[in-house]
Amino acid sequence: MEDSLIMLKGLSKFYTGGQNIVVGLNDISVSFARGELVAVTGESGSGKSTLAHVLGGILPYESGELYFQGAPTSHYDGAAWERYRRDCVSFIAQGYGILPGSTVLANVVSALRLTGVNKKEAHRKAETILKEVELWELRRRRAARLSSGQKQRLSIARALAKPAPVLIADEPTGNLDAENTEKVLRLLEEASRERLVILITHDYEAAEKYVTRRIHLQDGRITMDAPVRSERPEPRPLPEKKAVRTRGLGAYVAGLQLKARPVWCLTALLLMTLSAFGIFAFLGSFIKTLDDTDTRVYDNSAFRNGDSCRIAVVRADGEDFTPEDLEALRQLDHVKGLEPYGYILDVAYAYKEHEDYEVSFGLKKIGEDLYIQTREVVFTSTERFMKTVPREENFLTAGRLPETPLEVVAVGGEELLETTIPVYIQNRKNWGVSDYVYIEATIVGVTDQGEDLYFHEDMGRALTQYMRGRGWFFLPNYEKNLEDGYLCEAENAGYMQEKDYIWLTVSNKQDPSNPLYLRLKGAHESTCQQYLEVSPEYFEKLVETTTGDQISLFIEDYAYTDRVLKTVKNMDCLAVSPYREGAVEQDSELAAQRVRTLLIIAGALVALIVLQALVLRALFGMEMESYRLMNNMGLTCRTAQSSMLWQLLIFAVAGQLLCLGLTWLGLWKLLPADSSGALLTTGQELIRYMTAPRLLLLSAVHLGAALGAGLWLTSVLQRKIYPFAGRTGDLKWEALDKEGQR
Ligand code: ADP
Ligand code: MG
Repeated sequence: MEDSLIMLKGLSKFYTGGQNIVVGLNDISVSFARGELVAVTGESGSGKSTLAHVLGGILPYESGELYFQGAPTSHYDGAAWERYRRDCVSFIAQGYGILPGSTVLANVVSALRLTGVNKKEAHRKAETILKEVELWELRRRRAARLSSGQKQRLSIARALAKPAPVLIADEPTGNLDAENTEKVLRLLEEASRERLVILITHDYEAAEKYVTRRIHLQDGRITMDAPVRSERPEPRPLPEKKAVRTRGLGAYVAGLQLKARPVWCLTALLLMTLSAFGIFAFLGSFIKTLDDTDTRVYDNSAFRNGDSCRIAVVRADGEDFTPEDLEALRQLDHVKGLEPYGYILDVAYAYKEHEDYEVSFGLKKIGEDLYIQTREVVFTSTERFMKTVPREENFLTAGRLPETPLEVVAVGGEELLETTIPVYIQNRKNWGVSDYVYIEATIVGVTDQGEDLYFHEDMGRALTQYMRGRGWFFLPNYEKNLEDGYLCEAENAGYMQEKDYIWLTVSNKQDPSNPLYLRLKGAHESTCQQYLEVSPEYFEKLVETTTGDQISLFIEDYAYTDRVLKTVKNMDCLAVSPYREGAVEQDSELAAQRVRTLLIIAGALVALIVLQALVLRALFGMEMESYRLMNNMGLTCRTAQSSMLWQLLIFAVAGQLLCLGLTWLGLWKLLPADSSGALLTTGQELIRYMTAPRLLLLSAVHLGAALGAGLWLTSVLQRKIYPFAGRTGDLKWEALDKEGQR
């Protein structure tokens, strides 16, 4: 037995499936040498395939010993068996054992590369081998499209590709006609000139003239072991094996798997694209719902106007804004409008009787038999807040811009032009609840943007000045030629008849060291909620020209709040979202609703991730067979797993790119509008919430979900295909290196 290559000593192999144990091999002792071509025969179920798999290092054995080149193998660990399969045996599985989706050439090249041969060398060798088995002409054909004889020759070509000393073929002539059987047997005989060839066959007659020995199995035992011919020359030496290089093999195997399955790839890509959309939608909604502002009751004591798209801004140094400041703020991303007179945004007005307000008249006794008519106005609708005419071009659809504070632009059609409307201005913060200013305004322009009225800039200036507590509420009157430029009339102050005028001392904004004395006709101190008309020249002297120290931005959507707040704060300004600041008390109903929404979204997200894992499991289940084949040829468990992770990575990244690309192109808008209206709105809403860090987070979660599924799949792969992989033994790689090298 000195020249024995493989020796079995009392070897038994059991299959343990469920409760019962099946004996595959029963106490087998036999020895094989290089140069032999051994036919293994036996009835179906006698253990032929089991013997082939044990010899091939593919199935573990339970008792006895397998000696390879005189050394025992029962204490090999998983890695040692991988090395054994890769370097010591070529295995041709029953039923061809080729990669059906790959080309003929790729089948042979992959066999070579799995044993560590580099790309160039592998192609060179594959050419030689394919010519030998007469398949070179068909090298570009997919293996699945070969005839059965060609398939079998291809499987032999793969086995011949590596210079392993043992070649095991499980029924290679099983379904071949006589001519192809001859061809295959001749190839195997040629191989046996330098190797040990173990040929499992049920057709011994056809093989007889080639084989050197016959072993017959029955019920897992050897019942016959007889030499057929012994006048064989000494076996030729095998070519030297080159140094092994297995780095990058994972990516190579991944590519091999992908190329073999175009439809599979499309399915996987579709799946990962859909899951990217799903995670985008669910996680995006989750992030959006984390902001609980809309579950809180708005408290308008600080800002009456809690428009969710409003950002109130002041300079950090408390100074008034300069025109340059305003220009810079106007240019910010996501800012669609700017109200330079920030204070007036909290001033309400009413102009539609019976809709906005109700008026009642009465008499008020102010002296003995002296009454004045009183007018009481009750604001009835939700407040409308003032704003000045924006600067945009094409703002007006007809008419002109206001030139005096008593002229306004209204939203509506041309028929509104030149109509006069009553406007009650109510400033609850500074005035009493029932106090208001009444003006009669003329609509001089109309627009289709926004809502209601837009006021002249002087109105903004005057109110801002007044609200900052720096004087009276003056308005310039461009029509009446006010006497000496300083005559004022206070509307509704007519009852001060006994006094012709009063004098006011006011500061001169143009020349602060010289106060102005203002003679007010028919007005007195308690009419402060009334506006005082002055001549335009006086207005300039009395009212500051600045827009004030508080402005408000209007952003495209509440979703941009954080981003705009951040940029504005970086411009040395303080900024708040009144809507958010005023959100104080949690509405328990809405809060509970929000928590429910968050839970549902989180549940949906988990369900999506689990579903994705299950679908991936099914998809990768289809690859298992080729992994089994490659394992037979020496693909290590680690490399197989890494190739799986590579594929997942590729699809996850491609799916994400596709998802982003489709979103960016807006292709999802092509969905029928009626069926997807809500979807569309939600989608657009979510897009607004997407910042770069959030996108990264989504991307990471999607990738993480794919890799998580990947880890599960790789463990399935190991369990199914690599029964040895978890095995620990005393013999490590290094030891095998010394031993296994010939
Ligand atoms: P052959 O190749 O000679 O037809 P096998 O080696 O495939 O026979 O099978 C030998 C015996 O082992 C049979 O009884 C078969 O049912 C059993 N067997 C083979 N594979 C398994 C398995 N994976 N699990 C359980 N029993 C098996
Ligand atoms: Mg079999």
